[in-house]
Amino acid sequence: MLIDLHTHTVLGSPCSVIEINDIIKMAKRVKLDGVCITDHHSRNAIEIAKEKAVGHNLLILGGMEIRSLEGDVLTFGFSEFVREGIPLAELIPWVHSLNGVVIAAHPFRSGAPSMGNKIYEIKGIDAIEVLNGNSSEDMNILSWLASLKLGIPGVGGSDAHTALQIGKYATFFDKEIKDENDFICALKGGRFQALKMF
Ligand SMILES: [Zn+2]
Ligand SMILES: [Zn+2]
Repeated sequence: MLIDLHTHTVLGSPCSVIEINDIIKMAKRVKLDGVCITDHHSRNAIEIAKEKAVGHNLLILGGMEIRSLEGDVLTFGFSEFVREGIPLAELIPWVHSLNGVVIAAHPFRSGAPSMGNKIYEIKGIDAIEVLNGNSSEDMNILSWLASLKLGIPGVGGSDAHTALQIGKYATFFDKEIKDENDFICALKGGRFQALKMF
């Protein structure tokens, strides 16, 4: 299954212009099987998107992008509100206690809060976004290197804020994913591959 792990909608991210209908239309056009909606500290769009996706054979998965003290992370597996600036030493064990996952978002992107070399010290990251649609190739290569050196698997996501960016990068999973539980199991299992779609 091909899933874009990182998108923003107008309902949950003031910086995005993507309407829910755009998510469905574009995801189908670029042949994605699923889209994760990862608005900034918001789950406003998720239930609405799931309802609108019914009948379109498109999986909508809900997560949040959290601005931690050390940089942005994508999180899945819980719906509680998390404050901005939370240290990862606090966030990661808490997310794991809820059986969720924490993914380093665009770790080497400049111009956005990103972990940078701190990624080599932070414990417990479940995956690293090695293909991020708003990062340059050089920045993504640094993320790939971190993934290889740390032995932490890499994921791909468009980080789309406009409709035409949806699906630029995605993650291929070799098993069928039906819901968030399957998705988290697959992420914890490490059997997936980041891909460039266009
Ligand atoms: Zn970000
Ligand atoms: Zn983002």
